[in-house]
Amino acid sequence: MTTTTAEPTATALTLLSEEEQMFQQTVRDFAVEKIRPLVHQMDHDAKMPRELIDSFFDLGIMGIEVPEQWGGAGASFFTAALIVEELSHVDASCGVLVDVQNTLVNNALLRWGNEDQKSKYLSMLAKDTVGAYALSEAGSGSDAFALACRAEDKGDHWVLNGQKLWITNAFEAGVFIVFANANLDAGYKGITAFLIERDFPGFTVGKKEDKLGIRASSTCELILEDCRVPKENVLGEPGKGYKIAIETLNEGRIGIGAQMIGVARGALEHAISYVKERKQFGTRISEFQGVQFQIADAATELEAARLMVYNAARLKDAKQPFLREAAMAKLFSSNACEKITSLAVQLFGGNGYTKEYPVEKYWRDSKVGQIYEGTSNMQLATIAKTILTDRL
Ligand SMILES: Cc1cc2nc3c(=O)[nH]c(=O)nc-3n(C[C@H](O)[C@H](O)[C@H](O)COP(=O)(O)OP(=O)(O)OC[C@H]3O[C@@H](n4cnc5c(N)ncnc54)[C@H](O)[C@@H]3O)c2cc1C
Repeated sequence: MTTTTAEPTATALTLLSEEEQMFQQTVRDFAVEKIRPLVHQMDHDAKMPRELIDSFFDLGIMGIEVPEQWGGAGASFFTAALIVEELSHVDASCGVLVDVQNTLVNNALLRWGNEDQKSKYLSMLAKDTVGAYALSEAGSGSDAFALACRAEDKGDHWVLNGQKLWITNAFEAGVFIVFANANLDAGYKGITAFLIERDFPGFTVGKKEDKLGIRASSTCELILEDCRVPKENVLGEPGKGYKIAIETLNEGRIGIGAQMIGVARGALEHAISYVKERKQFGTRISEFQGVQFQIADAATELEAARLMVYNAARLKDAKQPFLREAAMAKLFSSNACEKITSLAVQLFGGNGYTKEYPVEKYWRDSKVGQIYEGTSNMQLATIAKTILTDRL
């Protein structure tokens, strides 16, 4: 595994600084008090109330790493992961909305935006504007660089044509990072990232998906029909979009790992409360060693997943290599989450199979962790590549 000569940021991965503890506690309380009462209805309606999203802005969690000069909290990437975990332990849809905003959209702007772009867009994103990140298309998912969306240089502006699919936050978003190919002859080196505002001419948000899980998180199609984009709205340089896409997603998947440990923890907490109440054979089912061992096993997997996610996030903050660690963290935590949430349904027995109880939703919400921001097979490909070409 990675060895590093950098000064450690903490003596143990789970030891939190005062600031980290403060964010963790504040968001935990907020999630339990303000989000939990809405979860069932949001899942049923497949919609998140705008007032709830506004309260994320008020709480300061839509611009976690954004410097204070642009209205953000000026905190670390690790803090963003902690916040996503806390939200997701109550509701994975809230977790992913905040995750995409911070680990993809703000992150890409912070890293690749010029001063004007940062000043304009980060100020909006920290204050009241939801962001979305649009790479995938109907014909290009795992093979992301096969995207068919085209950009044409018209001198003083660009014109974009094509469609995007599966775009998280699109229903609510005011700003979109959209990837299109500006030079087909150059292959993936023609891919360029554009900053698109919702009201740019030729830009439409299309159909919203009716999903298995994270139902309150919007996932929509985008349609670009002769969409006119100002020259200055290229993020980074033309032709460097592939690098922005890949490097942002390398970081973003740590956030998905955080979402998965949050979901797993939420389900396990419910299961633990339930087994301490439910009686069969004249005793609480938590008294059965068979049940205790299942819970102990799940808690151990959750702890392993948490350590992997925290380590990847801390490596990123320490500016150390983290590609493989992030891929492993997402792979492991999403698999652990699917298993732990399934166990939670199991421990609730028949009740777990109904919408009267909270655990079936956790199970449904878990599945997407193995799909978005690179499927499990794509994580395995990244891990294998780094092991076979680099080091163990
Ligand atoms: C709820 C949701 C939200 C999303 N949000 C966003 C978003 O905000 N922005 C965005 O750009 N995209 C988003 N996506 C898209 C997501 O990133 C893609 O769905 C994902 O990358 C997989 O692509 P695909 O669906 O085309 O599956 P495919 O690429 O068609 O994969 C199908 C199966 O084939 C396997 N496979 C494919 N290629 C290989 C290979 N080379 N080796 C082994 N196995 C392989 C995959 O692992 C998978 O099991 C979202 C998706 C969902 C479901």
